[in-house]
Amino acid sequence: MTVEISARLAAALAAAPADRLVYDLDGIEAQYDRLPAELPGVRVRFALKACPVDEVLRCLADRGAGFDAASPAEIVQALHTGVPVDRIHYGNTVKSDADIAAAHRLGIRTFATDSVQDVRAIAEHAPGARVFCRLATSGDGALWGLNRKFGCSAEDAVRILTTARACGLVPAGLSVHVGSQQLTGEAWQQAFDALAGVLVPLAGLGIVPDHVNLGGGLPALGYLDRHGNPLDAPLDKILTVIREGMEYLSGLTAAPLAFVMEPGRHLVADHGAVRAHVYRLTERAQPDGTRARWLYLSVGKFNGLYEMDQVRHRLVFPTRADADGEDDAAYVSAVVAGPTCDSDDAYGGGRHPVRVPRALASGDPVWILSAGAYATSYTTQGFNGIRPLPCVCARGPEGHH
Ligand SMILES: *Cc1c(COP(=O)(O)O)cnc(C)c1O
Repeated sequence: MTVEISARLAAALAAAPADRLVYDLDGIEAQYDRLPAELPGVRVRFALKACPVDEVLRCLADRGAGFDAASPAEIVQALHTGVPVDRIHYGNTVKSDADIAAAHRLGIRTFATDSVQDVRAIAEHAPGARVFCRLATSGDGALWGLNRKFGCSAEDAVRILTTARACGLVPAGLSVHVGSQQLTGEAWQQAFDALAGVLVPLAGLGIVPDHVNLGGGLPALGYLDRHGNPLDAPLDKILTVIREGMEYLSGLTAAPLAFVMEPGRHLVADHGAVRAHVYRLTERAQPDGTRARWLYLSVGKFNGLYEMDQVRHRLVFPTRADADGEDDAAYVSAVVAGPTCDSDDAYGGGRHPVRVPRALASGDPVWILSAGAYATSYTTQGFNGIRPLPCVCARGPEGHH
């Protein structure tokens, strides 16, 4: 499965006179609308860090989404959309006493947790709050496995939610995160098994959670692997496993179980693209004596493409021959790199050359696709004097705002 760039996005990129990050709001809305259709009844809480751009957040909130916030500042940004505070939860298991108190003052009543220490702090600084306990997952099958730092064992989860009840909190739920850009249905299956393995002993103790939070991890569809082949994410299979898993868990509990998801990447990655430009296409001898071409672009790891080691973004050179063109003589193989003085600022770790037009000249525009997730949040402030990319949102058939 691959995604084609929308006419709106293409028009907005083509109209850009200078570098920028462009979001296609209609595309994000359409992507959002597919989730309730595929997973009926699931409440979507957008993981704000994937795209902390006010216009994008407002468009999701208007559609009915809530937010998974990870800090008081993210809660404030989420509230700014006008979303009711009960559609925002504090989804970060890592938080200080001051963070908990600040969130509570802002009206947050639902908190993620994964340790007895954190639960005690929530009881003290957000008395009476609802907590959901995050279970550990292996992260296997994901491009970014979120294991070890977060999540607890089944035994710990029972202990944590029992402690929560004893300190006057509401043991309201369980959560998982299967890892970002999870590419297997099996990981989801294992997550449902882990959830079932806690729901059952909890029921024995008279603790009946009212919801399960399935976290993020749904894939983007437009990435390439390091060799330039589409990173085929089996989205349909994953959605089937999720539907079956929800039914399975619902059958295990006495009270109705609500389901929450916290997609980030899946909603925005393929609907954001970078308009960058060519610095220079060069040819030099490498340390091993071979000659190699390097294509330097104005955007790289530190100004929008932090994830470019793990995924390859499709590149489009709109003013030169199509990069998939037939005329081999018009192309050369080049390692692509960003503009900074850091050697890590190279696409694919600088080890995977890409086919690019031979005629590329300084100033030529380049479009970098499927770059909408985590672009602004991972941008540095002025590395080598390079400012963060301006961000614009396109809407409507013309692609203009
Ligand atoms: C980052 C994050 C998400 C979003 O993950 P994606 O893989 O982008 O969908 C969801 N939940 C939590 C708790 C997160 O930290």
